[in-house]
Amino acid sequence: MPATQRIAIIGAGLGGAAAATSLQQAGFEVNVYEQAPAFSRLGAGIHMGPNVMKIFRRMGIEQPLEAMGSHPEFWFSRDASGEYLSRIPLGDFARKEYDAAYITVHRGDLHALQMSTLKPGSVHFAKHLSSIEETGNEVRLAFADGSHALADIVIGADGINSRVREHLLGVEAPTYSGWVGHRALIKARDLAKYDFNFEDCVKWWSGDRHLMVYYTTGKRDEYYFVSGVPQAEWEGGNASFIPSTQAEMFDTFKGYHPSVQALIENADDITKWPLLNRQPLPVWSKGRLVLLGDACHPMKPHMAQGAAMAIEDGAMLARCLQETGVSDYGTAFRLYESNRKERASRVQAVSNANTWLRTQEDPAWVFGYDLYAHPLKSESAA
Ligand SMILES: Cc1cc2nc3c(=O)[nH]c(=O)nc-3n(C[C@H](O)[C@H](O)[C@H](O)COP(=O)(O)OP(=O)(O)OC[C@H]3O[C@@H](n4cnc5c(N)ncnc54)[C@H](O)[C@@H]3O)c2cc1C
Repeated sequence: MPATQRIAIIGAGLGGAAAATSLQQAGFEVNVYEQAPAFSRLGAGIHMGPNVMKIFRRMGIEQPLEAMGSHPEFWFSRDASGEYLSRIPLGDFARKEYDAAYITVHRGDLHALQMSTLKPGSVHFAKHLSSIEETGNEVRLAFADGSHALADIVIGADGINSRVREHLLGVEAPTYSGWVGHRALIKARDLAKYDFNFEDCVKWWSGDRHLMVYYTTGKRDEYYFVSGVPQAEWEGGNASFIPSTQAEMFDTFKGYHPSVQALIENADDITKWPLLNRQPLPVWSKGRLVLLGDACHPMKPHMAQGAAMAIEDGAMLARCLQETGVSDYGTAFRLYESNRKERASRVQAVSNANTWLRTQEDPAWVFGYDLYAHPLKSESAA
């Protein structure tokens, strides 16, 4: 393979891993540099809709993912008293209408499965990117451990505090949105003593806050919640999360249905996360560098599509590079932006507004999307 095809990906999160798999499967030479020394099974769940399952189909991991996830028949929205606000059909309906399953799963299990698809030796852990130097015909990456790597193009999949974004656009901390998210896992067996119907996928809403609840395993032995709650100041400094308490949760969701109180009662390791944001970026790429996922268009997570957008980005970027070859990276990056910006920006706006599926609506524009179904839009159509 010619030297012009060395692709470096910074960050092996859900988006970086998806880009790496898509590119490796297309025959590119890809190395991934991840700052973490290893990954652990952090206590968090995630939704994977049919739009992403169709990408995982191409990667060959749709079936194992289906086996590992929970398959809700509906997304229910309910008000604090328990009245239903919406019933969005998923399950068989999603398979038929959107051509793939809708699952909820443990984020760590999904990530481990994605990582298992990468070529042995192509992921380099404990590599914190500290600086980038663009010479005339390649990019030199310097890592905090003193090592270096060379690449022809670099994909910044390094999340909301992206070092690659900083190199492109200058140092600028993300903004605190004024909202936090509480997360906790609950053992389903601890809920057996209650008479409530703990639904497979339900979002409880009142005026300015919500609690999203779902199973994270196919066996439905692990239940999970994530909140969205206004909080004027983030008290955790630079920490990506801090511990929270049942007392804080009871206070936050006072007056909510007794089944919500039961969830809080049985959640013993609650964490609290600041929800961070950025204004839309003026550029997604410059020279040999390009961004994807949270590095490019972070959003409040209220639509459960942030990771999905990162994975779609990775797959689309691979598709564009296949079209042009790495040596014409400029055209590939413009094509990529033309084919992603409108959709990612629309999802970002709806997610930030936190209106998604609160009332009965048709989610086909998100779930029915098939990244491979249409010819690429030309560069000028952005
Ligand atoms: C409370 C909460 C709940 C959420 N729930 C959902 C949900 O249900 N569904 C959903 O789709 N999304 C959800 N999201 C959003 C989702 O987590 C993100 O959109 C998604 O993780 C973005 O993926 P990414 O690969 O772009 O970035 P990340 O997942 O942030 O990955 C970035 C990677 O880059 C690495 N890295 C960073 N800097 C460097 C560096 N300098 N050098 C090397 N490596 C580096 C990091 O260690 C990390 O592994 C949630 C977010 C929060 C905060």
